[in-house]
Amino acid sequence: MRHTLSGTAASRGMALGRARLVQPSRYLVDTRPLGEEEIEAELERLHRALDIARQELHELRGKLHGALAREVNEFIDAHSLLLDDAELLRGLDELVRIGHYRAGVALKKQRDRLVKVFEAMDDPYLRSRKEDIDQVISRVISALQRQTTREERKLAARVGEILVADTVAPADMAHLTGSGLLGALTTSGSVYSHSAILARSLDLPMLVGARDALSVIHDDDLILLDAEHGEIIVHPTAQDLARYRAWQREAAQEGRRLAALANAPTLTRDGVGVRLLANAEMPADIAMARARGADGVGLYRTEFLFLRQKELPSEDEQFIAYRDLVLGMGGLPVTIRTLDLGADKADAAGLVLRGEDNPALGVRGVRLSLRYPSVFTTQIRAILRAACYGPVRVLVPMVTQPDELIAVRTLFKLARAELKRENVDLPEKLQVGAMIEVPAAALNVRALMEHADFLAIGTNDLAQYVLAADRGNDALDNIYNPLQPALLRLIAYVIAAGRRAGKSVSLCGEIGGDPNFTALLLALGLTEFSMHPGQILHVRDRLAALDHAALRRQSARLVHANTYEEVEALLAEIAPA
Ligand code: PEP
Ligand code: MG
Repeated sequence: MRHTLSGTAASRGMALGRARLVQPSRYLVDTRPLGEEEIEAELERLHRALDIARQELHELRGKLHGALAREVNEFIDAHSLLLDDAELLRGLDELVRIGHYRAGVALKKQRDRLVKVFEAMDDPYLRSRKEDIDQVISRVISALQRQTTREERKLAARVGEILVADTVAPADMAHLTGSGLLGALTTSGSVYSHSAILARSLDLPMLVGARDALSVIHDDDLILLDAEHGEIIVHPTAQDLARYRAWQREAAQEGRRLAALANAPTLTRDGVGVRLLANAEMPADIAMARARGADGVGLYRTEFLFLRQKELPSEDEQFIAYRDLVLGMGGLPVTIRTLDLGADKADAAGLVLRGEDNPALGVRGVRLSLRYPSVFTTQIRAILRAACYGPVRVLVPMVTQPDELIAVRTLFKLARAELKRENVDLPEKLQVGAMIEVPAAALNVRALMEHADFLAIGTNDLAQYVLAADRGNDALDNIYNPLQPALLRLIAYVIAAGRRAGKSVSLCGEIGGDPNFTALLLALGLTEFSMHPGQILHVRDRLAALDHAALRRQSARLVHANTYEEVEALLAEIAPA
């Protein structure tokens, strides 16, 4: 019988597929004890599933590109380490060999035991790692199940699958998409979660907050996920399917229309030019940025060079990565952000301080770089050398006060002198800019600008610090909202201060690439947007429908609103979607 559920659209689109329920506690596992003669075969089955899980993670790592790859890769690394954890593996073997448990039960028992250990930890970061355990074990259980139900899977693969879960980890999302996942549906979760961001960048329809999904939907039910209207239709009728096909035709048409915008100039309806820059970190991002007609790279995140390996990347390794980026952009300006490790971006080489009570408010970004001048100088030398190959600007993350920029500039000067003595070619002048993502930096931006050639507003972090709401905490959705008037006032203030001082101001947080926020940012005076390259055509398209002068006249009303609901209503009035 057809029935419907509702949810909140985290990533738009529609998908038709078979439901795949993934929640470890809901896996049906055979609980009968093993006979002595079955033990070896069961161990083999278990280890095959572990190998499949390892292989999946390995393949996933190679496939991921784009701005989110860094964050997802962190999860993958953590999960890969867990899969090789000697204690976990020994425990599993013992449960099968001595306890006579089947592989599925052994995995669940190990999960419950480890989750308890993590839950008892004082450190909130370590405590939250219990989710990793959960996700890793789910992956292995799912690999186990696939061995037993190959026939069913073949059937399901014909129409693809839609994930139904309480929550989904970014790594799982990316992995499942690689293996044919068509959409995702979660009972909880936020539209600002990393998984939701990832779904948008993968173009995967996703609904969150469909509370009863796990009790109402069953494995293999045919479902129509309608993330255009926030609805899930279980057992859709012929009429529903006709609506889906009509949407598919429209979406294909829309894709072709957008593709034609790749070579178009970026102009508002009243002819004001806007610069669209790319957020990048991998070669694939560069190719995409060029293909979509980006005006340059507004944020090159260098962390991934430090996160992918145990040793610190050498000067030459960094030089090659930066030089290739500069060459890849073919003469367009490239903004290289200096290392932004710390908080949730913990490195493998051990630079990040451990045991801080409050790492998001701790030694991260430029604070960390300045603690390790020799590591920082290696990066600075590599940037200086690469800057001979094309226009490069340097962006400093997590700046709070002017002395940090002064210290960075001093290190650049010293590195220049050193390279000169070594007869290395040097660029003439390198612009040094500040990321505005700490509220103090926004409020004191005039003092910072005496030492910064340009500004880039990082709204992902600025929002979390202004609102005192962890950007990754789904429970704070009603607070972590980019339409919050306090955040808008700061953004407007920084843009206006930059304009008065004749300095360029870009914005490179998630909202920069979200067409739902384009009118708002234009109204606040922004004319340089930096975003995931996959979003460039969408934002260019939205801009063409907006009237810059009319929106600018609404700026005061927007920043003087009292609540984000008021901002939302105002936006709907002045720039309907
Ligand atoms: C930001 O904070 O908005 C930003 C662009 O930087 P990141 O997301 O890398 O912290
Ligand atoms: Mg940031």
